[in-house]
Amino acid sequence: MAKRSRGRAVWRSPIFWFALAIPTILVLYAGLLYSILPESKGEQLSYTSFIRRLERRDVASPLLLNEDRRVLFKSGGKDYWSSLPTDPARERFLNAAVDQDLRVQVDQQSFKRIILPATQYLIPSLFIGCILVLTFLLTRSDRGGNKGIPRRKSTGESVTFADVAGNDEAVAEVREVRDYLLHPERLAEIGAQPPRGILLVGPPGTGKTLLARAIAGEAGVPFFTASGTQFVEMYQGVGAARVRELFGEVRQNAPAILFLDELDAAGRTRASEATTGQEERDQTLNQLLVEMDGFDRFAGVVIIGATNRPDVLDPALLRRGRFDRQVVVDAPDRVGRLAILKIHARGKRLDPSVELERLAGQTAGLTGADLASVMNEAALLSARRGKPAITPAEVEEAVDRVIAGNERAQVLSPAEKRAVAYHESGHAVVAWALPHADPVTKISIVSRGQALGGRTWMTAEEERVLLTKSELESVIAVAMAGMAAEELVFGESTNGARDDLREATAMAREMVCELGMSESLGRLAWGQQVGSQFLGGDARKVDYSDAMAAEIDREVKRIADEAYSMAARVLQANRPTLDRVAAYLMEKETVRDPELSQMAADVVRLDSGSSGDGQGDTRVTEGMAAVAGSVQQIG
Ligand code: ADP
Ligand code: MG
Ligand code: ZN
Repeated sequence: MAKRSRGRAVWRSPIFWFALAIPTILVLYAGLLYSILPESKGEQLSYTSFIRRLERRDVASPLLLNEDRRVLFKSGGKDYWSSLPTDPARERFLNAAVDQDLRVQVDQQSFKRIILPATQYLIPSLFIGCILVLTFLLTRSDRGGNKGIPRRKSTGESVTFADVAGNDEAVAEVREVRDYLLHPERLAEIGAQPPRGILLVGPPGTGKTLLARAIAGEAGVPFFTASGTQFVEMYQGVGAARVRELFGEVRQNAPAILFLDELDAAGRTRASEATTGQEERDQTLNQLLVEMDGFDRFAGVVIIGATNRPDVLDPALLRRGRFDRQVVVDAPDRVGRLAILKIHARGKRLDPSVELERLAGQTAGLTGADLASVMNEAALLSARRGKPAITPAEVEEAVDRVIAGNERAQVLSPAEKRAVAYHESGHAVVAWALPHADPVTKISIVSRGQALGGRTWMTAEEERVLLTKSELESVIAVAMAGMAAEELVFGESTNGARDDLREATAMAREMVCELGMSESLGRLAWGQQVGSQFLGGDARKVDYSDAMAAEIDREVKRIADEAYSMAARVLQANRPTLDRVAAYLMEKETVRDPELSQMAADVVRLDSGSSGDGQGDTRVTEGMAAVAGSVQQIG
């Protein structure tokens, strides 16, 4: 089917026909030119020799006079021909012929009469016409679909928010965008800042594209889409030009949505040492930044980016007026999965014995796209087996197939669920109990893209740039709490604590080496940090003695140990709450308010400032600011 339509496309293309016409016309032209080429029998004589022979009466009758001023004759039994270049020449010849009673036949050459104007005017103009049309067609198609960035524009999006399930928070956040696109003038009237760039952050298959389409569908505006990888694949200097054109087109269609998928491919941090590929990416990124800044605020264009790697994005992209709003699109929890399964069960005949509730319970860790495949696969299997409806057997097999066919798709086993639930509960309980930790806003055991595991969200009441020593100690204790909970409950920890430990250690080291928060080492900066933070470099140049290095390690270890034992103490004192949160997580997978606040209220709080060594109000600057952003997530 696809093959046939592609074949048809070639034949149907006017470009094909015009391209074919050009050589055809050339061949035709050459043929005609050849056919009218004066061709005469015998030897050519110059005009003067011809006249001399004529006057010598050396020419036999009859002579053939061609319209193209050639005369053909016999002389001394041989064939000759000669041209009569001018009218007087012709006259002189005719007079001589009449004088000598020579018979002259005039050949009208009617064929040449018709062909001559054709060769002179018609064919060259046809030829030029074909070339003009072809040039036009080629440039037009270059401006149209086939121009490097295969992008799709579609109006009439039929996707709505009702098609997006299990992501109520994300939908709630983008509702405002829809409202703005429906009535761009309203915000202008109030004087409010319209949304411009929104970054959908989440693992693949969680419905980022779907959500972006749904906004366009709800607002009834055109939806343009391009992928970051397409910009980067382009030849030198082309990526930037394409970005410019794309934005121009979107602007003309405002109000509209421009969806930039895989933004990380185009928007990676600009490198200091540019390689060729990197340079291209930088140009593209710079153009992207320029275009986003160049938008009239009230033009009614909203740019939606999607990525699963917000950490590698160039910070300039996330600045005010660009992608300054992030919306997390995460893997669904149990309730969400049920809703998604229901959406994808629409229009499929399910046997009444299929329990979607149960299926939702068994598929912790699968994304919306995985679940859509499960339902589709189950329908295919049933059809292949000639069953009138989808039965639980096909559904089970479909789940296995989807998991086997997609290495990213992983289902949490009950034991893993329990481990992750206690780990995340540990983070939350310690955060609740310590006076300096940020409030917990959500706990989940299914929301992590790369690996199995959960996440705990903490939001500062006010954005804090400075952290005190005791606040930092609390942050480290909260990071250690996942591991502490696992050890308390199971007697050993899992590899799920890897990132937590890395973070806690880095923070403890920073306290000692950069912030002068260790009593025994004093207020000195130990070693120099080399390399930019954004490039992930946290290498240190050692400018102290080995003895000092050992002392630094001892201090870092002491801070980490103390934080860990603080976390362990909190958890021991709050074991009932820990169990309660974990049990809730195992069942529902996500804890939000109001349950969240109820559980938090039961926690026995602990004073973390007890280790006080007189530096309690040391303020932290610079480096730590990143730690205390408005929303923190801990794995
Ligand atoms: P992403 O862009 O995040 O990789 P997509 O939007 O491309 O994910 O999702 C692929 C398909 O999976 C969607 O077209 C839809 O059928 C299904 N899907 C994913 N997430 C959801 C969801 N939250 N609700 C309903 N369907 C979903
Ligand atoms: Mg997508
Ligand atoms: Zn953790």
